[in-house]
Amino acid sequence: MKELKEAIINKGVVLSKGVLKVDSFLNHQIDPMLVMQIGKQFAKRFKQTKITKILTIESSGIAPSLTTALELNIPLVFARKKKSLTLSSNLLTAKVYSYTKNETNEITVSKDFISCDDHVLIIDDFLANGEAALGLATLVEQAGATIAGIGIVIEKSFQPGREKLEAAGYNVEALARLASLENNRVQFLEENLINN
Ligand code: 5GP
Repeated sequence: MKELKEAIINKGVVLSKGVLKVDSFLNHQIDPMLVMQIGKQFAKRFKQTKITKILTIESSGIAPSLTTALELNIPLVFARKKKSLTLSSNLLTAKVYSYTKNETNEITVSKDFISCDDHVLIIDDFLANGEAALGLATLVEQAGATIAGIGIVIEKSFQPGREKLEAAGYNVEALARLASLENNRVQFLEENLINN
């Protein structure tokens, strides 16, 4: 997705060979026009798929999930990383190790919001080792619902996330795929397809 690749090149900051900071348009300050386009792009990529609900994880997954939900005219549910006082029973839960924070969170979603009839599109901002997406997939499976696919805004293709998700049988669509962050430089997987 051309606009996303441009934002990554112009505004992304390579923190190390494993971590890209996108705080100026996605993870802290949010560029609403770009995030609207991200929603349209996910809706387009999954248009042949039956989807009744989007599931993401707080907080950075919420903005791109909301614009996708708006395009598809379906509800969005986000998993919480900390237990809420108002959310204490009737829960779906999974453990997720956070790559950037080096901590394990128990993520939760109320059983009220995902049922066995749902076809769930999982969305997240980054794909690294696949922990967050696999944790979200566990919640969907606990509910007896179907996983329609996994949408990722920025995939670090040099890390094993996609391989794990595909091995588990999930269809993964990523809007930007990074081949490397070596030498402080962002390299896309399809370097010659910058217009895609
Ligand atoms: P995974 O669970 O696939 O190992 O990592 C994905 C999660 O970690 C995402 O939800 C995202 O918040 C965070 N993450 C992983 N890698 C990066 C990165 O390079 N930059 C940023 N900003 N977040 C990342």
